[in-house]
Amino acid sequence: MSTSADITATDYDTATDYDVVIVGGGPGGLAAAVALGRSLRSVLLVDAGQQRNLPSDAAHNVLGREGIAPAALLADGRREAAGYGVAFADTRAVDARRDGGGFVVDLEHGSSVRARRLVLATGLTDELPAIDGVRDGWGHSVLHCPYCHGYEVRGQRIGVIASVAPQAVHQSLLFSRLSPQTTLFTDGVDVDDAQRAELAVMGVTIVDGRVLRLQMDGIQVRSVVLTDRTHDVDAVVVGPRMVARGDLYERLGGELADHPMGRFVPSGPGGATPIEGVWAVGNAVDLAAMVASSAGSGVAVGAAVNADLLADDVRDRLAEPDRAPRNTVPSRPVEYPHGNH
Ligand SMILES: Cc1cc2nc3c(=O)[nH]c(=O)nc-3n(C[C@H](O)[C@H](O)[C@H](O)COP(=O)(O)OP(=O)(O)OC[C@H]3O[C@@H](n4cnc5c(N)ncnc54)[C@H](O)[C@@H]3O)c2cc1C
Repeated sequence: MSTSADITATDYDTATDYDVVIVGGGPGGLAAAVALGRSLRSVLLVDAGQQRNLPSDAAHNVLGREGIAPAALLADGRREAAGYGVAFADTRAVDARRDGGGFVVDLEHGSSVRARRLVLATGLTDELPAIDGVRDGWGHSVLHCPYCHGYEVRGQRIGVIASVAPQAVHQSLLFSRLSPQTTLFTDGVDVDDAQRAELAVMGVTIVDGRVLRLQMDGIQVRSVVLTDRTHDVDAVVVGPRMVARGDLYERLGGELADHPMGRFVPSGPGGATPIEGVWAVGNAVDLAAMVASSAGSGVAVGAAVNADLLADDVRDRLAEPDRAPRNTVPSRPVEYPHGNH
């Protein structure tokens, strides 16, 4: 699905040495773009348009924009970033490499762009369990996150499948707060007596036996089909393996770090990765990050990158006091996104 409702993405310039190229236009990348654009940095945002929550109708726990459609939030973010002069390339970045003091990023359709710093806001891939029906209902009636869509299924019949939810007991306990009709399908996973006692005291029903598939009606799950019976449900909870989209990071010489639930780009305070000049943000560095926290880390990374560029700016000016400062006030008036300044 394209997220470029208003801001089409052909206005980038292969001849420009951008201060920053941001790869990834989800909440993390867009927030970094706004912070850097407001700092009068020249920014190109490259995005392939596969933001993680696009399958869902609404995004929740997004302060001030509660329940907004994910695509609408992204379109607003793009408009805001564009208002501060950020350029867009709606394509995939296929390679990145160091070049002198900066980086060259190759884009899918053949052109290359140059940047002094690189921000990886590439998100992650949810590797869905191979149970028939899961993919059809993903983001609608097949869920993973109580904070994203738990409230929407409160009071309903919720089934947690232990074999494909690494923290199934914990998930079941969390969902039991939202519905007294929560069932844990053990599906061959050992649930010990202490865990069974915790689940029982919170009113979670435990169903042992192997799960064969989900019975779906379009995107709506109707039941969990086991080898010997069928249980009607309104929603199912699974836990995908979450793997940061780390190709570019690896091309630059980085290595993804292991996590019990997947793999991520390691980063320190302010989102700096072990590779000098490369920052990372959002789900790429934090598998548990949600929309607001991804955007929050985007602002922090934007500030950290601006400060890092400033150190170069100062050094350059000290070496060459007469040299014109680069990338100061834009030549065109900034169009503020909400027009009220
Ligand atoms: C089904 C579902 C529902 C969710 N609902 C909620 C919710 O209600 N509330 C909430 O707070 N969170 C929710 N989340 C979590 C939320 O989607 C993420 O926290 C958020 O999208 C992370 O933002 P991000 O910017 O790190 O990555 P993303 O939003 O995933 O954006 C990453 C972008 O980078 C692009 N990209 C990757 N590699 C490249 C490349 N090489 N070149 C160009 N572009 C590239 C991708 O195409 C994508 O557009 C949900 C997640 C799922 C799976």
